[in-house]
Amino acid sequence: MKRKVLSMVLAASMIAATLVGCGGGEAAPAATSEPAAEAPAAEEEAPAAEEAPAAEEAPAAEEAPAADAAAPTGNKVGVSMPTKDLQRWNQDGSNMQAELEAAGYEVDLQYASNQEETQVSQIENMINGGCSVLVIAAIEANSLSTVLEKAKSANIPVIAYDRLIMNTDAINYYATFDNYKVGVTQAQYIIDTLDLDNVDGPFNMEVTAGDPGDNNAPFFYNGAMDTLKPYIDAGKIVIPSGQVDFATVGTPKWATETAQSRMENILSSNYADGTQLDICLCSNDSTSLGVQNALAANYTGNYPIVTGQDCDIANVKNMIDGKQSMSVFKDTRTLASQVVKMVGQILSGETVEVNDTETYDNGTGVIPSFLCEPVFADVNNYKELLIDSGYYTEADLQ
Ligand code: BGC
Repeated sequence: MKRKVLSMVLAASMIAATLVGCGGGEAAPAATSEPAAEAPAAEEEAPAAEEAPAAEEAPAAEEAPAADAAAPTGNKVGVSMPTKDLQRWNQDGSNMQAELEAAGYEVDLQYASNQEETQVSQIENMINGGCSVLVIAAIEANSLSTVLEKAKSANIPVIAYDRLIMNTDAINYYATFDNYKVGVTQAQYIIDTLDLDNVDGPFNMEVTAGDPGDNNAPFFYNGAMDTLKPYIDAGKIVIPSGQVDFATVGTPKWATETAQSRMENILSSNYADGTQLDICLCSNDSTSLGVQNALAANYTGNYPIVTGQDCDIANVKNMIDGKQSMSVFKDTRTLASQVVKMVGQILSGETVEVNDTETYDNGTGVIPSFLCEPVFADVNNYKELLIDSGYYTEADLQ
């Protein structure tokens, strides 16, 4: 019975979400601005996490835990972000805080310096400190089960923010961008730029993927590799290093330095003899920066296509300078607005809007998700996308 009600609620949610969409214009960057950043200092490397699940499509399941069993009544929201080291999470955090405060909520925003134990204890403090909802961008997908059991026992609903939290049934909702589509967008750029439907090549490609501990990383990788597969199978794209499977090309913690040193090795082993490198498929901007650094120091051939994701300021500057070919723009204002809306719906006992109930199975069942649209960005459209929309100022990109 409960199941039926839930399915009906979900169906209604999906219709609502289809009508409303994400990024459809109601994103309202709000009044306040400064993030209350209580982040400890810098960070970086961490041990490689375990293997991420392979592919994209998850079997359809029918439900996820209900958020409103004993609907929380307070107005304090805990927001747990992974790190201040990457620009995007600073923006995500400050957007969330500004919008939540403008909507009248108290916010406990914490950054965890990419340290899993730090994130666990910050979340514990949020639970003990009376937060009514938790919004969490996990550092490592599998590291939060124990602490989230406590949230569940305290009837605190949890929204996984951008990264799915795996193997715990304490997650109620997931809000993200369409991660598979990010990879498809990168691959399509490569196909279009090299005119791969009409040209035989072969073109040499090297692949740099994301953190195996981040559930998004295989989605990005699979979106790109599935799209490029016909061209690889046809021999139009070859991978001289032979490094292609996700486990080999992943970059723990998305670290720029790790991507750089791996690329340096690839260049010295495979391209030092003058072999041309045509394509560097990089899953995101931080890994792309590492690859660009390696190219600058160790490669003198024709400059390859280099992909990325996030439109971080350093990378947009590099796009303008011709060091990076494209990025994928994920407007953090849109995601923050959607999550603030979900928080409001949870706290007022309304139906929570989702638009995907099939793709993201966290090991305990499919988590009802809201997927925002990622957008292609390059040197030709960045002004319209990033400056005209107020995301950056001209000065930011100087
Ligand atoms: C996010 C990307 C980001 C990466 C590294 C992923 O989970 O979806 O936008 O580049 O983490 O922080």
